[in-house]
Order: sequence, then structure tokens, then C-alpha cells
Amino acid sequence: MSPGEGVVPVVGLEIHAELCTRTKLFCRCANEPGGPPNTHVCPVCLGLPGALPVLNAEAIRLAVLAGLALQGRIGSPTKWDRKSYAYPDLPKCYQISQYDLPICQGGHLTIDLPGGGTKHVGLVRAHLEEDAGKTFHMGGDSAVDLNRAGVPLLEIVSSPELASTQEASVFAREVRRLLRWIGVCHGNMEKGQIRFEPNINLHIQRGGRTYKTPITEVKNLNSFRSLETTIGYEIERQYAVWLKDPEGYTIERATRENRGYDADRGVTVFQREKEAAHDYRYFPDPDLGGVDLDRGWVETLRSGLGELPADRTRRYREIHGLSAKDAAVLTQDAATGDLMDQAVALSADPKRASALLCGAAARLANERGVGIAELGLEPGQLAELATLVEAGELTPTAANTLLTQVLGTGESPRTAAERMSLLVRAVGPELDGYVREALDANPKAVADVRARGKNEKKAFGYLVGQVMQRSRGAASPPEVERRLKEALDR
Ligand SMILES: [Zn+2]
Repeated sequence: MSPGEGVVPVVGLEIHAELCTRTKLFCRCANEPGGPPNTHVCPVCLGLPGALPVLNAEAIRLAVLAGLALQGRIGSPTKWDRKSYAYPDLPKCYQISQYDLPICQGGHLTIDLPGGGTKHVGLVRAHLEEDAGKTFHMGGDSAVDLNRAGVPLLEIVSSPELASTQEASVFAREVRRLLRWIGVCHGNMEKGQIRFEPNINLHIQRGGRTYKTPITEVKNLNSFRSLETTIGYEIERQYAVWLKDPEGYTIERATRENRGYDADRGVTVFQREKEAAHDYRYFPDPDLGGVDLDRGWVETLRSGLGELPADRTRRYREIHGLSAKDAAVLTQDAATGDLMDQAVALSADPKRASALLCGAAARLANERGVGIAELGLEPGQLAELATLVEAGELTPTAANTLLTQVLGTGESPRTAAERMSLLVRAVGPELDGYVREALDANPKAVADVRARGKNEKKAFGYLVGQVMQRSRGAASPPEVERRLKEALDR
């Protein structure tokens, strides 16, 4: 039974993002996904007795950048704590994490709401910790791969302010876009570089009272789809359980649960009761000192952040007048936005440049599974294409064809257009010849247009297409329409 009126989902998200350092957080092993099991390991990340951790300064830099981009307060000093951990994927039996002095406190992120408008989502904190390895099962045995153990992980914790599956999904996507934009996380979901852990419960208004269901936490979701399915499922499950026991299934009487996501069935399953902080027995790591961050250095990082994706999106919409959809395509990563900006700086018309990037370029990037900026289109080429279209020398269709031709070649689109005879030949006897041919070859369409009946528009469009085809896309469509009308009126 679906919850209806008076039932508000309350969702908080923990987002675990692997920072893209060259080496791990406390040793010199490579921070690289994949590779044969247990090949990126050393005494430190294996947790061998006597091995001492040495902090990776680059991880601190990336975490501070993320904290600044999330508008948080950078904590100084910040320190390291041991968190008890009783699973084989971290063999030293504790995880080095941050308890009371995280690297970033507070902060917020503004998201665009699915139904329009925006929402300010508060953040509780962001702290650094070491990632665990991976346990997997082979036949009847369990095996562990520690290549990932010790990889720097930034855990970003939102306030429980997300009120629907859609809001949580938009928020998760926005965090991923931001982290990729500022270059601190590659954000490859298939490689597990970003994972989500939602906390979910319901506030239910009935008979003048508010009932709160117990909070469940679902661990380790590594796709937006699994995040969405999980939250949707939990909302319905908790509501169904509460209906059967409205006085017992409440935050006061029932315990918090950790649940796992079963991707095959699209459901969550009970794992264990949720630990309280005291179960983790945090204590300061005696092998690592605190870290004092230089204020001047932090401010230098802040001023180097540049324009963040939300601001870039707003600029594209408000200054360039682009649609929300196109602005989102152009701001999927910083490099695509930069390509757009460089073309505009070379005096490309923003709407023409955007149409090329969001049309032919986006389709091609999608086919090749790369970002738009990775296609090999140079800003100068994009600017020239946009300018040719704007000047009426190239049709939008021909510009899309040309774009795929000049990718990675460095060739000037105008030169290529001349070579391929794609430039619009607006006047001249050639075009009248094409019009004559198209009319002669399609007497039915001609009759439909002249009859001015319900088929007129469609038939006229068909004839325009026939002329365009004969000109191999090189004629200007308005010019073709004008000459067709003239010929048909004769
Ligand atoms: Zn190591």
C-alpha cells in the first residue's frame, strides 16, 4: 500500500567518494581500481604489526577543496581516530577515520527540485577515512582483495532534509557532478568510486499526532538506480509495517536497522541492528598527529575553485538564454563547459554553439562513451561552425555533419565545408533546377499543396526535404521554402 497524504519521507544521505590521489591515504601503494587481487598492498594497508601510517598531503588538499565547494567550515586542527571494525576487508580491525574533529563541518548544496524551484540542503559534515578492501565469495570460500584498503574516502553527510526519492536522487547527482567538476573524484559509479548510504524514515500525521518510524540505513549502494529503488521500497515497506503496528513500530520503541539492497529483487533485507557511536569505541590514533591547516593556504584553495557548476548553469540560462536541459548537458563536467566558454570567447553565438554541443556532439559522445570535451573538437572549430550557421552559410544539418568530419583533425570547418561542397549556395540557377526537379518528380505532393487541404503542410515539408536532398544539404532552408512557394504559385 502506497503512503499518501500526511506521510513525509525523511531521508539523509551519506555519500562515500574515493578521492583521486595517486597513492593511498597512509601509504605509497597505488590508488588504482582493478588489478589482480592484493597487488597494491604493503605492510601499512595490510595492517601488519609495527607498520606506521604516513599521511598523504594530496588527500588533505582534495578533501579541503571538496569542503570549500560544499560551503563548509574547514576544521583546523583536524585529527584521526580509530573506529573498531570487525570485518576481514580491513585486517587491522580498525578503520582510521575522523570522529570529533572532521576536516569539514556544516555546508550546504542547492538543488533544483524535480517539480521546479530550488532547495537548500544542509550538510552535517565531511570527513576523511580509509576505504576497506572487498570481500567476495568463490564456491564455498570467502576471499578478500585489499587493493582498495587504505584508499582515501571522503564521507559527506547530509542533514535529513530530503523529502522524496527524487530529491535524494537529484542531491546525489549534484554532489557527484560537483566532486568531478573540481577534480577531486573521478565519480565512476561502476568502479565504486561513489557509493551511497541513505538513512530513511517516515513522519506520519494521524489523528493530530505525529508518528515517526524507526530509521533504517541501507549500506553500499553504487548506482543512482539502486539508490532510487531502495528509498522507494523503504518508504512503502516502513509504511506497511507501521500500519500493522502504529504504536510499536516507532522511533521510540523499535530499533534502528541496517539493511542491505538486493538488486535482483529490488528490495532491502534486514542485516543487523545499527551500531551506536559508542559501539565503535572511537579513540585518537596514537600513530598519527593532528593536522593544522594553514588559513592562508585554505584561502588560496578557495579562490582557485573558480565558477562552480550550479553558478555555471545559472549563467548559461540567464545570460545565454539556454534551456535547462541544454545547460545541464553543458555542465555535466567542467571541460565541456570550458569548451563552450572558449568558443563563445571566440565570438561564437552561444545558442548555435550550444545546439552543436548538445546535438551532434552529445550524440557522438554518448555513442563513444566519453565526455563531450573528449571528442577532440577544438574551441576554434566549434566557434567557426557556430558562426557559419549564424551567418546562414551552413545549415544546422550540414553543421552537424561537418562537426563529425573535423573532430580530432584540427581542420578548419570552412575549409572542410568547401572541400565537401557543404556551404549554402543560396542563389543561382542550380537551386531553381532542384526545385523544378522536385516538383516534376512529385506530382501528388504538388497537387496536395495546391489543393490547400489538410495535407498541404505535410506535402510542402516533403517537397522542401526533396529539394534539400538534391542540394545535399547545402541549400538554405528559408531560401528553398521561398523559391518553392514562388514555383508553386506560378
Ligand atoms: Zn599500502
